[in-house]
Amino acid sequence: MLQIGSTTSLLGLAGCAEFVGIEDEDPEPEPREPDWCIEEYDEPVPEAQETGESIDGIERDPDDLNSRYEVAYQCHPQGFQLCANCRYFILPDDDDVPIGACAIVDGRVRSQDWCGLYEHTERLDEPPDPAPFD
Ligand code: SF4
Repeated sequence: MLQIGSTTSLLGLAGCAEFVGIEDEDPEPEPREPDWCIEEYDEPVPEAQETGESIDGIERDPDDLNSRYEVAYQCHPQGFQLCANCRYFILPDDDDVPIGACAIVDGRVRSQDWCGLYEHTERLDEPPDPAPFD
C-alpha cells in the first residue's frame, strides 16, 4: 500500500519536472580539444611583446620561434606547471587580460597554458610538480 502511494508520488513529480522543463535541460557540453585556444587566440602578438623580455630576462627574437603545434602547446596547465611560472613567459601588457607571449614560442600565450619546452622560472626555488595528484 505504501509502495503504491510512493509510486504515485513519483509519477506526480515526474509530471512536474516535465512541466517546469527540467527534462529539457541542455546536455553536457562536449569537452574541448587540448589545443582549442590556439585557433581562438590566433592573432598577432602586440608590438610591445614582439621583442619583449621574459620574466627571467630572456629576449624574444620574432625570427627564431617555435610554433605552438611543434611544442605540443596545450590550453591548460600540466599540474602546477604553467606559462605563468615558466622562465620564457612574457607578461601581458594589460593586467586584466592574462594573455602574454613567449620568448621561444610563436603566438599569443595564456598564463594558464603549458608546452613541452616548459622550464620553471629562476624565481621559484623548487620546480612545480607536473602531476601533483598522482
Ligand atoms: S610553457 Fe611553453 S609556451 Fe608557455 S611560456 Fe613556457 S616555453 Fe612559452
